[in-house]
Amino acid sequence: MKMKAAVLNAVNEPLAIEEVELDPPRGGEVLVQLKATGVCHSDVHYVQGDNARELPLILGHEGAGIVQEVGPGVTRVKPGDHVVLSFLPSCGTCRWCRSGHPVMCDVSANLRGGTMPDGTRRLHRSRDGRDINNFLFVSTFAEYSVVPEASVIPVPVEAPLERICLLGCGFTTGFGTVTNVARVQRGESVTIIGCGGLGLAAIQAARLAGAATIVAVDVHEEKLAMAKAFGATHTLISRRNNDQVLQEIMALTDGLGTDYSLEFVGGAASPATADLAFRAIRKCGTMCFAGLAPDHLDSMPISPKMLMMQQKRVVGAIFGDSQFRSDIPRYVELYMQRQINLDDMVSQEIPLEDINSAVQEVIAGNKVARQVIRF
Ligand SMILES: [Zn+2]
Ligand SMILES: [Zn+2]
Repeated sequence: MKMKAAVLNAVNEPLAIEEVELDPPRGGEVLVQLKATGVCHSDVHYVQGDNARELPLILGHEGAGIVQEVGPGVTRVKPGDHVVLSFLPSCGTCRWCRSGHPVMCDVSANLRGGTMPDGTRRLHRSRDGRDINNFLFVSTFAEYSVVPEASVIPVPVEAPLERICLLGCGFTTGFGTVTNVARVQRGESVTIIGCGGLGLAAIQAARLAGAATIVAVDVHEEKLAMAKAFGATHTLISRRNNDQVLQEIMALTDGLGTDYSLEFVGGAASPATADLAFRAIRKCGTMCFAGLAPDHLDSMPISPKMLMMQQKRVVGAIFGDSQFRSDIPRYVELYMQRQINLDDMVSQEIPLEDINSAVQEVIAGNKVARQVIRF
């Protein structure tokens, strides 16, 4: 079938809205008509070339839509079902899925190759027939997507797709980092570095967990105002001077630091934000690193002596180490009960044609939490 999609043909160039040919779903695959997709900072890292993939490429990995057709052997969904697309697949049967870490699912082995799990491609450029790479098996900056059954999460039809699409990446990453990785308990303290889509979800999780002190740190005042509205008890502006920010965190915590720090920035700032996250935690505290660092960065500044002497813990986290097949429907339920707020995380809704202005807004970084493309 023919459809419209936003194609990345070259790094640091605008995405091209092009006609693309999409093959039908094969065995174990599902054709989904996208209704909405968030624009995540990770997409922009690939546009800017901080992280590289083979081009041309259709980005987008935070989508939700309606199943149109299923290939042979698909049992978990049928045409008409509403689904959130998970940016990581889960087969449900491999060692990792069965041991509580579907974020490590073996189906992800081909995730970075631009193909489907079986090594073949479904996307082709109409103008010259050239194969197009997919992104994380979902490529949601397009009207339709053929995805593995392992990447779809069925959700109730009452839930608005233009909100719950955020559960496909950002919200679940931020929320899960608090509840599954840090495991923040009632009365504890947490520093949250970066108050975009991930950070605002983490603030909501920390609030629901009963954290006594939620310190939000960002370089933009506008983001800190959102952090406050979502439940941060304290907000600190970072002028990219870690010593200054740390002084303020210590002043808020009797000189001890917080029980946890969560890093949600990534990108070129990663060494600086890792330094801040490590020093912000108290003795026996836990630092979680959840931002996407550039491909070329292979170390970060953490004092081995302090790691040992203060018995600190440093952990990495992808997609909040979620049980996303059960967590995403649970978050939908929490949203429908108004216990979590996705509405105010969506700063603006735009058509696919405006995707390049959305990318520019992410780079500017100050005005938007999440932008959602509606098809
Ligand atoms: Zn993302
Ligand atoms: Zn698996």
